[in-house]
Amino acid sequence: MKSVKILNAAGGSPKVAVAEHPEPAPPKDSEVLVRMLCVGLDGTDREIVTEKYGQPPEGEADLILGHEALGVVERCGDRAGLQPGDLVAVVVRRPCREPRCVNCRNGRSDYCQTGAFTERGIKGAHGFLTEFVKDEERYFVKLPPRARSFGVLTEPQSIVEKVWDEIQRIQQRLIWQPRTALVLGSGPLGMLAAITCRCLGLDVRVWSLSPADGPDARWLEAIGAHYREADSSAGAFADYVGTLPDKPDVIWECTGYSPLAFEAMEALAPNGVLALLGVSPGERRHELDTNRLNMELVLKNKCVVGSVNAARSHFETAVHRLLQMEQRFPGALPRMISERFTLEQVPSIDFERITLKAVVDLIPPDRWDEWIRREDEEIAYSFSV
Ligand SMILES: [Zn+2]
Repeated sequence: MKSVKILNAAGGSPKVAVAEHPEPAPPKDSEVLVRMLCVGLDGTDREIVTEKYGQPPEGEADLILGHEALGVVERCGDRAGLQPGDLVAVVVRRPCREPRCVNCRNGRSDYCQTGAFTERGIKGAHGFLTEFVKDEERYFVKLPPRARSFGVLTEPQSIVEKVWDEIQRIQQRLIWQPRTALVLGSGPLGMLAAITCRCLGLDVRVWSLSPADGPDARWLEAIGAHYREADSSAGAFADYVGTLPDKPDVIWECTGYSPLAFEAMEALAPNGVLALLGVSPGERRHELDTNRLNMELVLKNKCVVGSVNAARSHFETAVHRLLQMEQRFPGALPRMISERFTLEQVPSIDFERITLKAVVDLIPPDRWDEWIRREDEEIAYSFSV
């Protein structure tokens, strides 16, 4: 079957190519075989392609790319409860094998302590840019058929849901009634954080380098967020925060520009939470008034939390939230998907030119209904956390 591979991912000269890969054996027991419909691309894929940091499975030279999947069940093992035709998203991380890793042993590999976890399409396991994927049923999350046009956003939304879950747990330390959220960055993750906060009833502001008349800014304004084009000069962020009626109760740092993460600590309201979601590879040095930051955190009970990956439960909440978003802001989620490519086009994609969110179709969307099971969507869709 055709797959997008990083050839020689572990070696000296990796190359992106469409290559053949053996089809998985028929599913047994609780295994499920899924036909891929489409796969979303994000910054991690861009880095794997450009910085060559993908890691192939042990003993192999190549890595199949892709970790934001939407597929349809093709066949199930005897003990699997899903049915052929079910629309599914796929959990990305797989646990390490260390008996001492209590989080991996308890279904929370997103908190793996050994670092020996694998991630499909990223680290030590093949991804989803291929025709068929087989795995244990517990890694597939069912979506109702009406989520077909935006279900590929389940994985990135799961990242947002994990953060919101963490914020809620942290804030049980006090009586907290948040009113305002500030999102730094207007990439797909920033957009999803912003629309999530809108669904939660918060006043949402977004600060990002994209032009104020650009497609991301216009999308954000359409969902009721207040967009401000960032100025990268020194002090510009502090000046912007000074213009806000209130300091934000929650800040989502989605840019990965690390000096901003520290400026955000000061910008946060008393008792607030700053969530760091952006990664910043390489080295950067920056001078800080550490006394002032320390005072801010201590005297105002501020909390900073770093967050990566997500558990299955967050994928399930993500499905619910995406449905809620589609109801509240009809058409907003499908509009986030700005470019669609075929598998053959992937090696020539220029990641710098993607407008908002790019998706790779394994099957053209107008043919998906040949495989997605028809059902009474409202009744047949059951949900459990
Ligand atoms: Zn672990």
